[in-house]
Amino acid sequence: MEKIFIGVAWPYVNGPLHLGHIAGSLLPPDIFARYHRMKGNRVLMVSGSDEHGTPITMEAEKQGKTPKEFVDYYHKEHVECLKRLGISFDLFSRTTNENHERIVQDMFLTLLKKGHIYKKKGIGLYCNKCSRWLPDRYVEGKCPNCGFENARGDQCEKCGKTLNADELVEPRCKNCGTAPDKRETEQFFLKLSGFKEQLADYMEDKTFWKENVYKFTVNWIKNLEDRPITRNIEWGVRIPLDGYEDKRIYVWFDAVTGYFSASKEFPFWETFWKDKNTKHYYFIGKDNIPFHTIIWPCMLLGYGGLNLPYNVPANEFLTLKGEQFSKSRKRAVWVPEYLKQFEPDPLRYYLSINMPENRDVDFSWNDFILKNNNELVATLGNFVHRVLIFTKKNFGKTPEMGEPDNLDKEALKKIDETFSNTERCIENCEFKNAIKTVMELAHFGNRYLDEKAPWKTVKEDKKGCRTTMHVCMRIVKALSVLMCPFLPFSGEKLQKMIGEKNLEWANGKTDAKGKLGNIEPLFKKIEMEEEKMLDIEDFEKIEMRVGEIKNAEEHPKADKLWVLKVDLGDEERQIVAGLRNYYKKEEIIGKKIVVITNLKTAKLRGVTSNGMLLAADDGKNVALLSPDRDVENGARIK
Ligand SMILES: [Zn+2]
Ligand SMILES: [Zn+2]
Repeated sequence: MEKIFIGVAWPYVNGPLHLGHIAGSLLPPDIFARYHRMKGNRVLMVSGSDEHGTPITMEAEKQGKTPKEFVDYYHKEHVECLKRLGISFDLFSRTTNENHERIVQDMFLTLLKKGHIYKKKGIGLYCNKCSRWLPDRYVEGKCPNCGFENARGDQCEKCGKTLNADELVEPRCKNCGTAPDKRETEQFFLKLSGFKEQLADYMEDKTFWKENVYKFTVNWIKNLEDRPITRNIEWGVRIPLDGYEDKRIYVWFDAVTGYFSASKEFPFWETFWKDKNTKHYYFIGKDNIPFHTIIWPCMLLGYGGLNLPYNVPANEFLTLKGEQFSKSRKRAVWVPEYLKQFEPDPLRYYLSINMPENRDVDFSWNDFILKNNNELVATLGNFVHRVLIFTKKNFGKTPEMGEPDNLDKEALKKIDETFSNTERCIENCEFKNAIKTVMELAHFGNRYLDEKAPWKTVKEDKKGCRTTMHVCMRIVKALSVLMCPFLPFSGEKLQKMIGEKNLEWANGKTDAKGKLGNIEPLFKKIEMEEEKMLDIEDFEKIEMRVGEIKNAEEHPKADKLWVLKVDLGDEERQIVAGLRNYYKKEEIIGKKIVVITNLKTAKLRGVTSNGMLLAADDGKNVALLSPDRDVENGARIK
């Protein structure tokens, strides 16, 4: 039996949960935890609401609430959503909980005592009119990097650079607009620079990590800088020392300690944190990498005696029309809205098979509906339904196996292979490949059933028909187990139909012996709303032409973009395209492509793009569409 600790990034409670959170950091650990529990391994999966920090105090002030009232509301809503989505935490705690505050303070004092935390004077911004300090988001000003007028005190949204409030040019109080004073103030710093060698040792055997996580971490270690861990604010964990009543512990130090504090709510926490055989996995979005691969390991090393992260399989982003979901900018698909309309499993399926594991993935409602209807309903649901209805009608229960022919043997082998491939994928945190492997078994089942045509053999060859349905029921039982980590509600429903309950992983490979219960469809078709479908007139509005790429230059600011010059016969256009990861300069120049020519001009990271080219994208590869025989540049596509 293995012991596995699963830390899940603490969702920030400044608004409702959106699908980006689910795809990025909440669904992957749930798949992983459910699988390991079914294997008989011991799992502890914890997370909680991240409730401190300035985005929360600001949003609360805007709504005329206290920060506590504000976080209470969203914490409750998050807990409800996570439960309905079936995210199976052992504990979902919160950073305002007393036990948590005590343990953060213990972490702080221990690191201070051991010399990993020190005091240093620096500059803070203070608004005389409002009589208060202005931490990060309470101040705006001109970005010292790009000149953007409304950069925030923690980051410039225009150029993405992280900032310190005192670096802003012409800073102003976000509340009253006055120019704040620069005042000397003392803060505590975490001495990350002292961990350089220990971190390098720790990273030595981590070459199995996802490439981006590994590279990012190794590069960051080269320039380790100490970080302030306190600030002048009144909402957060108190500093457990006299004389610092106007300061609080910084939100990131507070939130990562949550993994430890939540575990300590269990009497057996030491088996997960002190036994060296326990493996620690942290599931996070890519924006959280340094906190989990650098800062948290440093804190643990400094504290001493606790297990470090074994793997941090950070996901990329789920995007909406190419841009990141954003709570603060209110651009997202919200989980509470989704749950008002649909069941949880279709979303879990869609986000599993489209998981942004190695690159950003775009969400689309059309694609969601198509995947539900064509894959869940038409492939998996349909196979199961055909088998169960036929078996129940003709045999009442799973029939006995006769003499298997080659195809029957192949089917039984396919079950075993699906199990071992799915196991390998899940254990490597490759969830997208894992669910694909499961779906292949359903595809295989449909083909097997069509080939065997039991509706014919039931009259001509009853013995053969029995064997066919025996094999089919084995596939159904296997699927009922294999789907559980991904589609727990449907898995449970299917097991009930075949007279089983809470099957363990290894049970999925055995004979189906349960009594058939009430059979009903596993999944429902979702009707495409009329307004989401295009009329032919809509399509005809799009003007497409053949163009030839004459030149390709690197975009000055974005390493994924080519700036192309495209010959459209009677004119040359500049088009910016995200193809640099897929096409080299010499490959792309000279290609004939398809261009949408009547789009409004757009700017991509500051460079004008006048048109859009068409490419196919299967999640692994991107391929340009090209006419398959020579036509003149500018030829209309219709
Ligand atoms: Zn900037
Ligand atoms: Zn002010």
